[in-house]
Formats: sequence, C-alpha cells, structure tokens
Amino acid sequence: MTLAYKNLIGGVWKDSASGKLRESINPANTSDVVGTVPDSTTADVDEAVAAAREAYRGWRLVPAPKRGEILYRAAELLLKHKDELGRLATREMGKILPEGLGDVQEAIDMAYFMAGEGRRLEGQTVPSELVGKDCKSVREPIGVFALITPWNFPTAIPSWKLLPAIISGNCVVFKPSSDTPVCATKLVEILIRAGVPKGVVNMVHGSGQVVGSYLARHPDIDGISFTGSSAVGEELVKSCAGLDKEISCEMGGKNPIIVMDDARLDLAIEGALWGGFGTTGQRCTAASRVIVHAKVYDDFVCGLARAAADLRVGDGMKDDTEMGPLIHKAQMEKVLEYIKIGKEQGGRLVTGGRQLTEGDYAKGFFVEPTVFADVTQDMRIAREEIFGPVVSVIKARNLTEAVAMANDSDYGLSAAIFSQDVNNCATAERDLQTGIVYINAPTIGAEIQLPFGGIKKTGTGHKEAGGRGGALDMFLHWKVVYRDFSGRLQKAQIEG
Ligand code: NAP
Repeated sequence: MTLAYKNLIGGVWKDSASGKLRESINPANTSDVVGTVPDSTTADVDEAVAAAREAYRGWRLVPAPKRGEILYRAAELLLKHKDELGRLATREMGKILPEGLGDVQEAIDMAYFMAGEGRRLEGQTVPSELVGKDCKSVREPIGVFALITPWNFPTAIPSWKLLPAIISGNCVVFKPSSDTPVCATKLVEILIRAGVPKGVVNMVHGSGQVVGSYLARHPDIDGISFTGSSAVGEELVKSCAGLDKEISCEMGGKNPIIVMDDARLDLAIEGALWGGFGTTGQRCTAASRVIVHAKVYDDFVCGLARAAADLRVGDGMKDDTEMGPLIHKAQMEKVLEYIKIGKEQGGRLVTGGRQLTEGDYAKGFFVEPTVFADVTQDMRIAREEIFGPVVSVIKARNLTEAVAMANDSDYGLSAAIFSQDVNNCATAERDLQTGIVYINAPTIGAEIQLPFGGIKKTGTGHKEAGGRGGALDMFLHWKVVYRDFSGRLQKAQIEG
C-alpha cells in the first residue's frame, strides 16, 4: 500500500484544498512508489503563511537556549532513526546507501551544531564615547521565511535551512522538492516530535511553479532561502526585487579540480572519481571539470577512464553499488543530450556515454560513468552545469593557465588542487575564485561548521551552514542599542 503523506499547517497534518495527489518515485525502480503527497494550491500556502505569522508572535520570544534544547532532542531522534532515514534517502533520491546515511548524518551534525548556537547568538558590547551610556548590538529573528529546497540532498539541505531558521527564532513555510517530499516529511515529523511548537514549522508540498513561486512572493513572507538551479534562483531574485524580502539563493556549479605534475596521481584519480561520480554527479559541488598538467595528462586520462569504467552502477540499496541512477527521466535525457553535444563539439569520449537499459536497469534512469578528454574551454560540456556522471578533462601547460581556466566560468562554488608542492597549493588557494577551495581533496566534502556557498552565478552572497559568518547571518538581523543612564540629554559627537 502506498503511504499518503500530508502538508503540515499550524500543527495539523492535512490534505490540500485541491484534493489532488502527487507521487514520489524511486529512480532506481520506477514501479516503486515511495509515497504520495498533496498537490497543493495557493490557498494552502495562504493558510500556512498565516499559521507561521501567528506562531512567530510567541516563538521569537522563546529564549534561544530553550529553542536549542528542542534542536538537541531533534538531533538525538535523527541519530536514533539514521538507518531508516538513510535508506529512505537512497530509495527516494537514488544515491548509494553510504551516501544516503551521510545525508542524514549531515542533518544530525547540523542539529547538534545549531542546538549549541542557541547559547551563542552573541552580539557585541563596546564602550561609549559618553559617561553614563552603554552600547551593544544584539541579534533578532526576521520573521517568517519561505524555504525552498532541491532533491539532491533530501534531508541535509532542508536541515541546513530549517535548523538555523528556527534556532534564530523565525517561523517557516517549507516547500520541499517534488522529487523527494517523503524525506522532507520525515525530517519535519522529527522536529515536531522533538517539541517544535505548532505553526513554527509548516510544510506545503506541491509544484515549484505553483506553490514555490506563490510562496516566495507572498506579502507576509519576510525572507526566502532557496537552493536549486540558477534558472529558477535568478527568476526568483528578479521577481522578488522591490518586495523588501531577504533572499538567499544557492545555485549551480561547474567545479574544477586542478591536477599538477607534482600531484600524487593515484590520489588525484581517486579524488576526481569521487568528486565527479559521487551522487552520480548530482552535487552542486560535483567535479565536472578536471584541469590536468600536460606532463601527467595522458596518465591521468587513462587512469580516470579505467577507474570510471570499473564503477559498479545500479540500485543504491545494493551493497556493491558504487553509483546510482539519475533522479528522473528529464535529468537523464539532459545528461544524454550533453554527451551528444560533447561528441559533436570535439570532446574525445574515453569511457561511458550510454544509457543503461538492460535487465534491472530498464526500470530506472541509469547512465554510464562518462569521461571526455581533450575538452577545451569553449565547449559547452566545459562551461554548463550538466548535473550528471560526466567529467571533462582539460589540458593545461602550467599552474597559471590552470587557475585561469578554472576561473573562466560563470559559476564560483567549489574548486580543488592536487599537488605536493606547498607553493602551488598556496597560490591556488589565493587565486581560485570560488566560495570553497580544497587542497588534495576533491570539490565535494563540506562540513557543516563552516559557511557554505558560492560566488558569481552560484550564489547571492549569503552562506548556508556555519554559525556567525554563515547561515545565521541569513536568518538574523542586527539591532544596535544605545542606553543612556546619565539622567540628562547627552549629545553624541557634540559633547563629552
Ligand atoms: P530546481 O528545479 O531549481 O528546483 C529547486 C526547488 O525550487 C524545488 O523545490 C522546485 O520545486 C522549486 N521551484 C521550481 N520552480 C520554481 C519557481 N518558479 N518558483 C519557486 N520555486 C520553484 O533545482 P533542482 O533540480 O531541484 O536541483 C538541482 C539544482 O540545485 C542544480 O542546479 C544544483 O547545482 C543546485 N544545487 C545547489 C546547491 C548549492 O548549495 N549551491 C546545493 C544543491 C543543489 P519542484 O521540485 O516542485 O520543481
């Protein structure tokens, strides 16, 4: 029997006013329906926003350490249910089970971290120029946020938004991806079990075009935290301009790994394999470009092609699977189209390139791990986000050229260098134009205690994860307070 999940509005799990449902499908086996969720309408959004506004009146006044206690309980519950939630992430999204479990671990880490932040939402106290006066800054919640998330980290990314938003004293209306709504629902269920009061977290399922776009522009929404494609994020930024809303958009990437002639080649190949094909290449930080020094280029291409060809592709739930399916048919077709474009534009296909259709593969969206060599900067596969298991290898004569190629991109999320030379590493660290730099590690593998996010077309400048300097800066305003206890009217800059 297919389980029917619901919206959460004002503490009540309920169906949509539309009465319609949407199915969530296992991308490794399309006959497996993971669950159904409501196909909501703008009326459901109105109700959820009103519930959040009402709850905000009380939640903003709950002391942050008390809010932290709830998040601490959520962390404990997530830990207790890690295996079940990890399996669900694999079933609903397709990533291999160790990654499904890692997705949940990230939410656990975030819950513990944000629980602690409840005791650290510190401001500043500084001396005043005047006698009998003090000066401080404090942090305050902003109000009601719209949270809109993608499918590739179905538990982790919602946790990156929900947990900092609510520890800061905001209330939220959460619109999860239509492709992974059950993972999102399970996370919200845990928050409610942990003691999040009614109306603080509301969830409305449904399409981005109806629910997402209406929610983001809703007059009673104070801020939007969106993660997804650059196309949708840019549209949101434009359509919300002039509406006086905070807006953070974390979007696409085209992340490069530089491999120098002094690199440990075995490590670089392993790094490119994990960075390029982990999560089937469906990470915003996926290493879709590898820029390799001419001296080691042929050996690198040969080693990467062999390793990619050896990857076992299949249902992520099976023990020996190393790469799972793509999320849905449209994504698979997009990837196959890019492979065709890569060939047409002169890329040398060294391994992969085909859809897998035989036997069990016929039920899912599987494409072979694909490596193109002799890719040049002008080719579309070197410039555009593919979001699939396709790695382009590009030749560079030296570090200066490699860094210039890495930076010659519309995106600026993550970059990496493999080199045993400290000077090469330090130069790359300084000159790479991305929000994240890895040294002797691939472009993926962020930890939640530091800010996460990109520049250029990747992000609007706000950060996810991390505390001060990170996610909390999105969800809190600074207020400055001057208190005069001198008993007389003092004039700053004029007397004293
Ligand atoms: P997407 O198509 O942009 O969708 C993201 C979310 O936006 C979904 O919940 C979607 O709802 C919703 N949405 C769609 N159209 C909307 C509209 N007009 N107004 C408001 N919301 C709308 O992206 P995706 O395919 O889910 O995710 C893949 C993309 O996310 C990639 O580009 C990847 O690089 C990016 N990503 C970035 C980061 C980062 O931190 N930089 C992290 C992960 C992923 P529906 O699901 O109902 O369409």
